[in-house]
Amino acid sequence: MTLFDLKGRVAIVTGGNGGIGLGMAKGLAGAGAAVVVVGRNDKKNKEAAKELEKLGVAVSTQVVDVAKEAGCRKMAEEARKAHGRIDILVNNAGTNIRKQPQEYTDEEWHLLIDTNLTSAFHCSRAVYETMKAGGGGKIINIGSMMSIFGASFTAPYAATKGGMVQMTRAFACAWAKDNIQVNAVLPGWIDTDLTRKAREQVGGLHERVLARTPAGRWGTPDDHAGIAVFLGGPGSDFVTGTAIPVDGGYSVQG
Ligand code: NDP
Repeated sequence: MTLFDLKGRVAIVTGGNGGIGLGMAKGLAGAGAAVVVVGRNDKKNKEAAKELEKLGVAVSTQVVDVAKEAGCRKMAEEARKAHGRIDILVNNAGTNIRKQPQEYTDEEWHLLIDTNLTSAFHCSRAVYETMKAGGGGKIINIGSMMSIFGASFTAPYAATKGGMVQMTRAFACAWAKDNIQVNAVLPGWIDTDLTRKAREQVGGLHERVLARTPAGRWGTPDDHAGIAVFLGGPGSDFVTGTAIPVDGGYSVQG
């Protein structure tokens, strides 16, 4: 087995039916892992599965709302039944609502916290015993540039993404004894459905991102394939509690 070989491993990717999640799922499948695609939209799940199956791995799909605890529990149970084990969990499902802090309703606040942050807690807790029984595992939590910066139009989202990094560190400390490594990935500005909406809603965003990103471009979902393989496999067995930007240098631009 090489450091980047995931044959025999089983990966769950929440929000794996599009955007960054699908980019990571493609990386994991390309390295040999079986993949469980999780999302609310069955049609999108099945289309993603078709794409992943072309890489020669077993793929299953699950229609789950990860904002609900029971959904996360069922997701873990069904993944274990379908594939026999769970080695990798990517907590990627997420959404955003952009407005000024004083304009959010309580419902919007709770929707964002439940979808982006509480979901990762529930899904991680749901896979823990299976990962431990299998000898260890890898959890990859998706943060954001909003894990480290502020912006006027995204207060609850920033709270979830900052929370994701701190939760990553706490889980990493708790579960290292079980050989479970827990790390966060902080994508920069990536061209997906989520940010296509942001570009419509936030004037000048497209140009500001280009000007600030040393790589001189928006990122793509496929830019996340490599980090998924690294953090999902034995190459990162002594790496835990980190938050790694995948941002073309956005976060280090002075
Ligand atoms: P997309 O909107 O393209 O994808 C979001 C994914 O999450 C979809 O697969 C969606 O599937 C799934 N999802 C959303 N809500 C739920 C839910 N309640 N239950 C289950 N699945 C859900 O966005 P991105 O790919 O851009 O975002 C993915 C992650 O990356 C998010 O956590 C986002 O915050 C983060 N991120 C994105 C950045 C970017 O620039 N694009 C930058 C930094 C972070 P379905 O609709 O079928 O449920």
